Amino acid sequence: MCLIEKSRTIPLYLQKLQALDRRLPAFHPKRAEVENELARWRAGFKGEQSIDYHLGFLNEDWRILHNLRLHDGTRSFQIDTLLLTTSCIILVEVKNITGILTLDAEFHQLIRFDNEKEEAFQHPVHQADRHKMQMGWWLERNHIPSLPIKTLVVMAHPRSVLKRKNGTAGMYPQVIPAYLLPDKIHELHRHYPDPVLSDADVRELIRLLLAAHSESPQNPLHRHHIPSSDLVKGVFCPACGKTVMERIHGNWLCPHCGCTSKKAHHQALQDYAFLIHPRISNQEAASFLHISSPSTMKRLLRSLSYPASGSGRAVKYKILLD
Ligand SMILES: [Zn+2]
Repeated sequence: MCLIEKSRTIPLYLQKLQALDRRLPAFHPKRAEVENELARWRAGFKGEQSIDYHLGFLNEDWRILHNLRLHDGTRSFQIDTLLLTTSCIILVEVKNITGILTLDAEFHQLIRFDNEKEEAFQHPVHQADRHKMQMGWWLERNHIPSLPIKTLVVMAHPRSVLKRKNGTAGMYPQVIPAYLLPDKIHELHRHYPDPVLSDADVRELIRLLLAAHSESPQNPLHRHHIPSSDLVKGVFCPACGKTVMERIHGNWLCPHCGCTSKKAHHQALQDYAFLIHPRISNQEAASFLHISSPSTMKRLLRSLSYPASGSGRAVKYKILLD
């Protein structure tokens, strides 16, 4: 079995979008726009997860790092899956797009035909080529001997149909359906039989990659120009979703479904961290959770063991994420 050095986790931006989806009023003018973006991110993540089964067929020569976000010196780039051996690197780009997909070499775009509608996307091979170039720069900056870099673009949607424009047969051999992934990886590997790195070099490279990874600081509120004052405050019911709970006798109670919870406020505070600020004062937390007693709020924050800094009224708690 291949070794997973960085596992696939829900991208931070997707978690932020999910928090925004929870907290945006039902009839907010930006709701459709946010829901569209959320659907795209969910589909993308589902597509990435769907290749894991196929990667399970690789042997222990392969080290795998998922969702790496690196900086090439000028700008950041995101790699869905990076495969590493002593002789090469393979960057895997995953697209989860449904419909009839045509690769257009002339205008460098991917055209999707679905539901009687035509839509253009960025050509995934060009995107992969750019990542390859950026990865090359990154290796150079980190003084890593020239390691061959190959790319693969996986069309992960089980019902997408891949087509080429006439006269481009044989073009884009790196674009493949998910089930071909192990075969294609072995085929690429056969071109690079000679190790460029030692096992120790590979371990060091993995250490460098993990240290260089950074999550995107992007905030969907800024992206969609939504002021944080538009967000619904309060503690949402973990069972029925969008109802704001009431605090009664040290418990959270949902007036809609009757569900009770001892720690539903943790989710609300995480939403605050995702969308507003990673640190929160007692007063800010009381206002966000609709808690009238400062001492109750203090007790709740302390019970969550969030690291605190500052003193007196200026104490801020660092909200821990699951
Ligand atoms: Zn409920």
